[in-house]
Amino acid sequence: MSKIISAIQVKNFSLYYENHKIIEDVSIDIPQNQITAIIGPSGCGKSTFLKSLNRITELEGKVKTEGTIEFFGQNIYGRRVNLNRLRRQISTVYAKPNLFPLSIYDNVAYGVKLIGWNPKTELDKIIQLALKSANIWEEVKNKLHKSALELSYGQQIRLCIARALAVKPQILLIDELCAGLDPLATSKIEELIECLRSELTIIFVSHNIQQVSQLSDFTAVFNYNEHQIGQLSEFSATKKLISHSFEHGHRDYAYTRFR
Ligand code: ADP
Repeated sequence: MSKIISAIQVKNFSLYYENHKIIEDVSIDIPQNQITAIIGPSGCGKSTFLKSLNRITELEGKVKTEGTIEFFGQNIYGRRVNLNRLRRQISTVYAKPNLFPLSIYDNVAYGVKLIGWNPKTELDKIIQLALKSANIWEEVKNKLHKSALELSYGQQIRLCIARALAVKPQILLIDELCAGLDPLATSKIEELIECLRSELTIIFVSHNIQQVSQLSDFTAVFNYNEHQIGQLSEFSATKKLISHSFEHGHRDYAYTRFR
């Protein structure tokens, strides 16, 4: 079996918003080119942890942190970190699509243009590749210059994924994968995640235990500690976690534990 390399190493990490501790003493190694799911009850800090991985938390409030988070050996909380670069390398896709009121093409081109100038033919290729990788090319190839906001909800999410992929991230963070989507749109996004498995490290938050067991290689379980602060309570291979839960003789054991 090939050795698993850590893409992200979190050591004794705590995060406060305005001196209020939200997550405490989290230590975890996120494996490269694997899919890691984050599960746990509402409000226990799953999204906050995800946002800590590319410092999006700092866009949302006054943040203080303790401990370290290393991305391939670089402390992302170091003083010299270029945040724009970090957020391109570790890119977030939100549950609610956040497209710009621009064309499909311009939405995907947006981040690429911010990084630098690309000749039109090269940009066309980048856009096409990103849309193909996000499993949406066939649906939009004849209307690239139409408004992105005319697409269905599920298509908009896949377009957000295309936009994230266009800048070639190494890690994709997905908050609340497929929340509020119908079964068909959900299965399209799940297929897409499967396809991206070999190219990227993916970390997603989900409340859907079936989805977690089907898609993820590893699962991080967050929960509250005795002071009602979020903490990592378990991290292991998803198969192991699920079979262990069933060995305990509770059909719904895993489910109740993950909610
Ligand atoms: P989960 O994703 O597990 O539902 P969150 O990470 O969204 O939990 O929230 C964890 C806690 O952090 C909640 O108590 C929430 O109110 C608080 N929180 C989240 N974002 C902020 C913020 N920007 N400022 C202050 N508190 C926040």
